[in-house]
Amino acid sequence: MPDSQHFDYIVLGAGCAGISLTLRILNEPRLAHKTILLLDRSPKQQNDRTWCWWEPPADRTDPSTGLNFLDHLVHHHWQNLWFKHPDGNIALNIKPYEYKLIRSIDFYRYGMNKIGAAKNVTVAFEAVTEVNAEAGTIATPNGNYSATQIFSSVLLQEPTLQPHQLYLLQHFRGWWIETDHDAFDPAEADLMNYHTSQEHGCAFVYVLPVSKRRALIEYTLFSEVELESEQYDEGLRIFIKSQLGLAQYTVVETEHGIIPMTDMQFAATQGKVIFIGTAGGFTKASTGYTFQFIQRYCHQLVQQLAAGQPPKLHVPARFRFYDSVFLRVLHERKIPGHQVFYELFKYCKASRLLRFLDNASTFIDELRIMNSTQKRFFITAAIKVGLRKPQA
Ligand SMILES: Cc1cc2nc3c(=O)[nH]c(=O)nc-3n(C[C@H](O)[C@H](O)[C@H](O)COP(=O)(O)OP(=O)(O)OC[C@H]3O[C@@H](n4cnc5c(N)ncnc54)[C@H](O)[C@@H]3O)c2cc1C
Repeated sequence: MPDSQHFDYIVLGAGCAGISLTLRILNEPRLAHKTILLLDRSPKQQNDRTWCWWEPPADRTDPSTGLNFLDHLVHHHWQNLWFKHPDGNIALNIKPYEYKLIRSIDFYRYGMNKIGAAKNVTVAFEAVTEVNAEAGTIATPNGNYSATQIFSSVLLQEPTLQPHQLYLLQHFRGWWIETDHDAFDPAEADLMNYHTSQEHGCAFVYVLPVSKRRALIEYTLFSEVELESEQYDEGLRIFIKSQLGLAQYTVVETEHGIIPMTDMQFAATQGKVIFIGTAGGFTKASTGYTFQFIQRYCHQLVQQLAAGQPPKLHVPARFRFYDSVFLRVLHERKIPGHQVFYELFKYCKASRLLRFLDNASTFIDELRIMNSTQKRFFITAAIKVGLRKPQA
């Protein structure tokens, strides 16, 4: 491409992963001399999503892990979580973790202000129309750019679903609601509330109160197909009335999302491009959680860049295997999804389960977790995954 402006790094996409990575590069003194272009098709003006994840509190974390990086933006956090189910409600002991919530608009504003003030970063709002991964060049309607390294949260090519792989959707609609009387306990949240119809697939509701009069209620499904728009609203209306006992409330914000739950292999790199975020396969296939993995992997990438090592993310193969097995159990429905989660939360220590879902468990943890499930369904799924999956 002629007349291209050259940077050390181009970061494609100023969403969660692009901003997280750029902030971490700016925080790393060894990369202070790097020139960066951060590019997105449009600036973010809306609170378009809410991110929740779990982490130990800052005073119990080694700073070198890169955790707690965004603690100052946390809008609310909970130490008391519930798993609610028609067979019984379970209070979850999640220590040493806290369940945290960040509003995306707070993150975008903080991130873009900080990035905008950095002299070595150029921010441009232009849609990328072409990427030459081998050459390290990109084109937008306004110009051409090149870089030594490109980080992309934009997929250049959809991965292909192989016959042995699965693709489920985590699809959801959340309403931020307000009441004119005290209706919530902001010290407690429902991580999964299964007091909702299972007619459309494995469905549950997050109840996340941030004050006595304000909460995010999110109706969530794990299944193959989306619902009609009205069906999400209906799921929310019925739940709020029947389970929260609220007849009157105001919906002050709405968010809607679809997160891929798949064991498809996303390309980690292509030529000079390293993929990050959802496009880099950072989403945990069995849960849809992505935020904490974006933070963790962006930290790892920056440490490697700073040490002059070739950037490479390492997810132990056994976690990918567990994800595939779990997806298969959900997909085959020989045991309903809500029952799988009920048994896991009933018979496993919640902190152990969260450690497992964070890809941070030990083999002993994993044996204990396996012991608390109806093994025959998981063993059958594991055999199918083991037999069908080509060895990496
Ligand atoms: C409503 C919602 C709620 C979620 N809640 C949670 C949660 O609670 N916990 C959790 O772990 N995960 C959650 N996720 C999943 C995941 O954390 C988010 O999707 C996260 O934003 C992914 O970050 P990303 O950077 O990969 O993608 P994005 O944040 O979507 O960023 C991609 C960026 O690329 C830009 N872009 C795309 N194409 C182009 C182009 N051609 N040119 C220029 N720019 C382009 C887009 O404008 C966008 O800004 C949620 C997702 C959604 C949709």
